[in-house]
Amino acid sequence: MRIPYTGPLPPPTIIPRSANTPTGAVAALTEFLSAPPSRHLKHPHAQNEQTVLLTGAGISVASGLADYRGTNGTYTLNKTYRPIYFNEFCANHEARKRYWARSFLGWTNLHKSKPNISHYSIKELGSLGRISSVITQNVDSFHLEAHPNLPTLELHGYLRSLVCLTCRKEYSRKDFQNQLSALNPAWASFLAEVLESGAMDTEDPEERRKRGFKSNPDGDVDLPEAPYHTFRYPACPVCLNNPPQLADGNTGKIDVDHEGAWLDSSDAGILKPAVIMFGESIPAAVKDAAEYAIDQASRILVAGSSLATYSAWRLVKKAQDNGMPIAVLNLGGVRGEEKFFADIKPGNMGQEAVRCSQNAEKILPTVVEALEDYRR
Ligand SMILES: [Zn+2]
Repeated sequence: MRIPYTGPLPPPTIIPRSANTPTGAVAALTEFLSAPPSRHLKHPHAQNEQTVLLTGAGISVASGLADYRGTNGTYTLNKTYRPIYFNEFCANHEARKRYWARSFLGWTNLHKSKPNISHYSIKELGSLGRISSVITQNVDSFHLEAHPNLPTLELHGYLRSLVCLTCRKEYSRKDFQNQLSALNPAWASFLAEVLESGAMDTEDPEERRKRGFKSNPDGDVDLPEAPYHTFRYPACPVCLNNPPQLADGNTGKIDVDHEGAWLDSSDAGILKPAVIMFGESIPAAVKDAAEYAIDQASRILVAGSSLATYSAWRLVKKAQDNGMPIAVLNLGGVRGEEKFFADIKPGNMGQEAVRCSQNAEKILPTVVEALEDYRR
């Protein structure tokens, strides 16, 4: 995954022009989702007349998770925020301590948060036969929770699990939290105090900042001056019990302290969140599955994403190359959108393209209602 495009994005041109109000946006999206397959489709074997949905951070905002971007396309939440890079995580024990300390503090809030009405509207759109599958950039698992029966591909992985960098076994992040608590009692009591203070209860980043906390889109918490170097994290239990063979043929060495915390003299058994970090490649199987999901559908709807990450942008580009109609429901600008909407005919009321700048959680439930009426 590359670092997202962070330059300012121009405000969108609304398509059709009537989609500049919530009512108009609902009408256009209803038209989009119920239109017959476009005659411009180049893909000869699109298997269904349905829509593939691509979602981003914007649809989790109503669950209390922060979006990476404000409506002007810049990082608004925390100017000093710098995500950890994959290579840094793999190579640097100190960087991992810092990562896990922040993740430890942020997890409770993330773990408490729930899918919102957008996710449940997507479930309904699936039941109505309008959506064939979901591709999400989000790592919060809300889609799976809200609509376990509608196929969902998590393009950038998921925070609910850890993966061992050596043996690739996955573990529950929830259980890991308890292990981190046991290894870091001082941090655990600090976290208890923070939770007690109510600073994590507010969804308002400004209010949280006033109470002394900053939180970031991936659910971690930034504490200037915190003694991150004291933080301890466990080794992969499988590798610890059965030292693995490394790529160079040597046997991996996993050293732990008397309580099981990974020591820097080790060369294997490092646990990583099962998300795609910046600088880390999306597995080929995931990329292929995403492209397959695009090819199987007749149109694409982007909801709550500015397509700032290349992996998401290129899927929409692929849909365009397939001749698929594109709809974008996102507050604020979208990377390269003028090219996606370059050749739209004036008579289009939503069949061939929609661009609206509205909150997904306000629009999608009404689209569901309109499509239910449409079916009657
Ligand atoms: Zn392992």
